[in-house]
Amino acid sequence: MAKQKFIVVGAGPVGSLAALYAANRGHKVKIYELRSDLRDPSTTPLNFTKSINLALSERGINAMRHAGSKALLDHVMMSTIPMSGRMIHGQRPSGELYEEPQLYDVHGRDIYAADRAELNKALLDILEKMPNVKFYFNHKLTGADFKRKVAWFEVQNSEKSSSKSSAGRAKEVEVSFDFMLGADGAHSSVRYHLMKYTQMDYQQEYIDTLWCEFQISPNRRRKSEHPMERFLISPYHLHIWPGKQFMFIAIPSEDGSFTCTLFMPSANYAYLEADTSKLPAFFDHHFPGVTSLIPPKELIASFETNPHLPLISIKCKPYHHSDSVVILGDAAHAMVPFYGQGMNAGLEDVRTLFALLDKHEATEESNDPTNPAPADPSVQRSAAPAEYSAVRAPDAHAINDLALQNYVEMRDSVLSPTYRLRKALEEW
Ligand code: FAD
Repeated sequence: MAKQKFIVVGAGPVGSLAALYAANRGHKVKIYELRSDLRDPSTTPLNFTKSINLALSERGINAMRHAGSKALLDHVMMSTIPMSGRMIHGQRPSGELYEEPQLYDVHGRDIYAADRAELNKALLDILEKMPNVKFYFNHKLTGADFKRKVAWFEVQNSEKSSSKSSAGRAKEVEVSFDFMLGADGAHSSVRYHLMKYTQMDYQQEYIDTLWCEFQISPNRRRKSEHPMERFLISPYHLHIWPGKQFMFIAIPSEDGSFTCTLFMPSANYAYLEADTSKLPAFFDHHFPGVTSLIPPKELIASFETNPHLPLISIKCKPYHHSDSVVILGDAAHAMVPFYGQGMNAGLEDVRTLFALLDKHEATEESNDPTNPAPADPSVQRSAAPAEYSAVRAPDAHAINDLALQNYVEMRDSVLSPTYRLRKALEEW
């Protein structure tokens, strides 16, 4: 295949992995990112809008395994923590607190707690060393013509911007491309422009749940050097305090802390926002035991300081137009986080897309009379993006549905008698 000009919009985990797949195939890759480089210490930390750590599973690991860079997986996995199951926290009628581990996999396979920013940085570090990759930070996609294969970016006013603009005024640049990969997240601009070129079915839903982050600090009381003693609760589990209508979860981090998330309907947020002093009692009632891990003052401070963010679920199809553009990751299928698969599914999009590009390239190049390439070159070139839409959309829609269903499982069913009976029968 002739080496092409790829542009990737969005340098999140999915866009960065897509850039690596393209660059490893020898294409010329330009990555355009709205924000500044997240490795720059002066950049606003990602956790203002994104969860600090997340669950990495085989779906995502496999996509990194096939990226053509052993260093990537080695680096990412080195700083992950295996989680063999979930740990359900509750309180018996007697008032006694209990913890109940529930394995994720009968064969003992784990999922991994990973730092989202570290994973992203590992990808950017590898890409930066590749001669055929160029970054354009502080560049916001504002328009695209997918027939002429031209896109427009507004250069954000930043001293660190690669294209200097006069103070205070945004400059626009025009860029031509052969193939655009849109990985610009749930509110994707690429998807918005793609809608004008294809008959896209589109559905979005905000669920009535907001999320806010908290932190369980590392254990500073014990003097022991044993790494396990840094953690106040088991580091090998994803911890859940199910509250029927709400849920509080905790995921371990390497430094002994846990990133925790409170998922709760907006009305409950409003109730607590009106008087944050009620928060510790609310936690003691619904998430017993948490206030002994997060002191009430810290609990209130996090609730007051950290944003209370919505959760969106998006389904659309197709994911491509002709041979000029595809969307991947949250841009194609933002999902609620309860199945821990949003990023994992996005990374899998990349592996699927490039497997199809490779397959169709092989068909074009083989002169196999039993499997001829289409005569029309534009049909030939769009075969892989079309197949990507056809195979990927149904899978992504299914994962979106599972993610929505798993909220009920996590916040309620894990405690129900039916769940316990089913589990007992399965184990029997
Ligand atoms: P993003 O990470 O959103 O990256 C998009 C990038 O595009 C951003 O850098 C943005 O600045 C840039 N951009 C946006 N607009 C433009 C523009 N116009 N021009 C140029 N650039 C632009 N997933 C899991 O797999 N496991 C989990 O455990 C998990 N937990 C989660 C917990 C919470 C609370 C939440 C909210 C999400 C969770 N997710 C999880 C989902 C995961 O965070 C996302 O699926 C993942 O970040 C999507 O990656 P992405 O690269 O597609 O998009």
